[in-house]
Amino acid sequence: EMNNQQEKSQRKNAILVDGVILNGPVADSRSGEKFVEEVSKIIMEEVIKKAADATEKVCEWQPPEKLRTLLDLELKDTGESHPKLLQLCQDVIQFSVKTYHPRFFNQLYAGIDYYSLAARFITEALNPSVYTYEISPVFLLVEEAVLKKMIEYIGWEGGDGIFNPGGSVSNMYAMNLARYKYFPDIKERGLSGIPQLVLFTSEECHYSVKKAASFLGIGTQNVYFIKSDDRGKMIPEELEKQVQRARKEGSAPFFVSATAGTTVLGAFDPLNEIADICEKHNLWLHVDASWGGSALLSRKHRKLLHGIHRANSVAWNPHKMLMAGIQCCALLVKDSS
Ligand SMILES: *Cc1c(COP(=O)(O)O)cnc(C)c1O
Repeated sequence: EMNNQQEKSQRKNAILVDGVILNGPVADSRSGEKFVEEVSKIIMEEVIKKAADATEKVCEWQPPEKLRTLLDLELKDTGESHPKLLQLCQDVIQFSVKTYHPRFFNQLYAGIDYYSLAARFITEALNPSVYTYEISPVFLLVEEAVLKKMIEYIGWEGGDGIFNPGGSVSNMYAMNLARYKYFPDIKERGLSGIPQLVLFTSEECHYSVKKAASFLGIGTQNVYFIKSDDRGKMIPEELEKQVQRARKEGSAPFFVSATAGTTVLGAFDPLNEIADICEKHNLWLHVDASWGGSALLSRKHRKLLHGIHRANSVAWNPHKMLMAGIQCCALLVKDSS
């Protein structure tokens, strides 16, 4: 039998859905803390300590029909006990891909970075949002410092940036900024007020460039794919030809997305030559360095990005070669006004 006090505290902790009280194990702070501690131990043992062990499996692979039966994924009206929840946590880890495994090879991943992981534990625990200084004083300064450093690596005098949920979003924001710069009416009058826009990227570009053109109402037909050489780099003479073709057709070229580190071949477009063409035709130069941007930190390889300081905007994902946790993607812009 519950005494009055216990019942009160349980009612306080129960979840109210549509007027129905769900009496699950909505934890009071003491048992909640204990639960988090238990889960932390499981994470330490099953994820982190096993991360460097090549004799462990990368994943206990199961087809979806089987996995659905192995996991208890049904969302119920009643809660679950702590032992059951701990078991579920174990199951999640058991059947997931261990991205820190030394034999896990995939785009984006390069093993474990303990410091990046520790930092993420802190941000997850604090659950901040970087919208105002009031709510995130430290992280706001961290954001500022990191963006400033990235801008220094690009080689701009000033500039600004923002972290996004993906390089794809960075590419779309860049396209949107360029369009606004050349056709500020777009903001209030929408697409009806502007000529037919055309943008350029190489045939080896990331698919997000085409997607962004679709999302922004520019249209995928207005993405001109420039031929690449046999190493996958955009051929500048072909770009020049296509810009002239678009002009002859009566369209309005406005944007070039060069790629620094293409998805399939890892090619770096010749940025200086492309920048010359952009200057000549007054086009916004965006560099999609989502993958290859981190080569800027290498004394040996930064020459691959020679000319990047001439870009108007750069997409750069530190979660790729820099080992930051996913997602960590920045869009950087030269003009901060
Ligand atoms: C990874 C990548 C992207 C997209 O990044 P997401 O974070 O997956 O949206 C775009 N362009 C290039 C060249 C990339 O390597």
